[in-house]
Amino acid sequence: MPYQGHINPMLQLANILYSKGFNITIFHTNFNKPKTSNYPHFTFRFIIDNDPNDQRYSDLPLQGMGAFSRIIFFNRYGADQLHNQLELELSRKDEPPVSCLITDALWHVAQPVADSLSLPRLVLRTSSLFCFLTYASLPLLGDRGYLDLSENTSASLLDGLGYVDLPHNTHLEEQVVEFPTLKLKDILKMGYKKENDAIGEVIGNMVKQTKASSGIIWNSSKELEEPELETILRDIPVPSFLIPFAKHFTTSSSSLLKQDRTFFPWLDQQPPNSVVYVSYGSVAQMDKKHFLEMVHGLVDSKQSFLWVVRPGFVDGSTWLEALPDGLMGERGRIVKWAPQQEVLAHKAVGAFWTHSGWNSTFESVCEGVPMICSPFWGDQPLNARYMSDVLKVGVYLENGWKRQEIANAIRRVMVDEEIRERVKMLKQKLDVSLIKGGSSYESVESLVAYISSL
Ligand code: UDP
Repeated sequence: MPYQGHINPMLQLANILYSKGFNITIFHTNFNKPKTSNYPHFTFRFIIDNDPNDQRYSDLPLQGMGAFSRIIFFNRYGADQLHNQLELELSRKDEPPVSCLITDALWHVAQPVADSLSLPRLVLRTSSLFCFLTYASLPLLGDRGYLDLSENTSASLLDGLGYVDLPHNTHLEEQVVEFPTLKLKDILKMGYKKENDAIGEVIGNMVKQTKASSGIIWNSSKELEEPELETILRDIPVPSFLIPFAKHFTTSSSSLLKQDRTFFPWLDQQPPNSVVYVSYGSVAQMDKKHFLEMVHGLVDSKQSFLWVVRPGFVDGSTWLEALPDGLMGERGRIVKWAPQQEVLAHKAVGAFWTHSGWNSTFESVCEGVPMICSPFWGDQPLNARYMSDVLKVGVYLENGWKRQEIANAIRRVMVDEEIRERVKMLKQKLDVSLIKGGSSYESVESLVAYISSL
């Protein structure tokens, strides 16, 4: 699934399995293809969008929520090519036999294809268990009328930037009866109107075909999501393996953009826990108005910062044209892309202002860094809610993008010892889970045994 937030965990998983003795063949699209020279130990096959004259995949949005359209089309048109390529792999006499296919959960069409070839398919789910359980309940939430609420706010999300600045409304602050962790507005912010719109259809099929798979690999940990794991084990009759990938491999080799490292001498000189790291992942986009609130919020917080502003992040700008001259002073550094895990592991970094993508969220927990959460759409509002209200390791900036609130939230997270203590404890638990007998260690071992048994 050719997006950074999906490529990273898949290649981390591939590295884990390779380290356990498996041969790895990667099927990938030409769009956003990983740097194959970083993976001389893997075989790469390019499928789906090999034909430059195929108009179906050209001109699709690259950023914002519109990026999801590629996922819709790969499912719609990609099954035959996947089938043919798999058949070829299965017939190769010069290679070790194929144990199984592992695909991203969003590539749901892979399940019927694998079934037709009697090939076991395991699923890699790149978001949290909590998110999966919420997605699995979308039909129920739809029946109860919760998704209708979003008609007005999310009608144009697929074409738009995907950021919903919800008006304050006390009704939306209410809890969802069936999911007390969530507020009504969290459902709206996910951006799914009805189960039967194009995105809802992919989500519905993702859930269905994940349940029909031979097993699910989660980039998560029992230490984080024990209650959700219990529900999953009770309700889904296939094995689940929870592995904190960031604890095994960094994502540097699978980075699609060049990582800037020039700021490290500056970061090295900053006092411990004094810098806010700001990054909104690989696809989120903002308009100029919200970007300016970010700028002022950061400046008003009076904290040092390292800010990743991807080219194209501000709608209509190539990079930093919208930044007012001289406003940022010497307090911070802005880069186009950073080696995120190394930054989060740096002793100078005291907080992460994130869009709450799951990889970023989990990487932050793995490094023991508290968060300021500013989710856009999809699973991000769910991750933000879980981090702020369940694990209590972040502050959710949930009342819109106002500079004063931003500055307050940043200052609060930088000085709140309880939040910092909690996230450090979680990091320690994750570290322990990797030791023999720990949950993550055992998950890797049982995954290896399970694949070997297929
Ligand atoms: N990332 C990175 N450098 C950056 C910003 C992000 O390497 O400057 C990585 C980050 O470590 C994470 C991924 O990009 O692994 C983003 O995935 P996430 O699920 O957080 O968000 P998405 O991009 O899917 O919205």
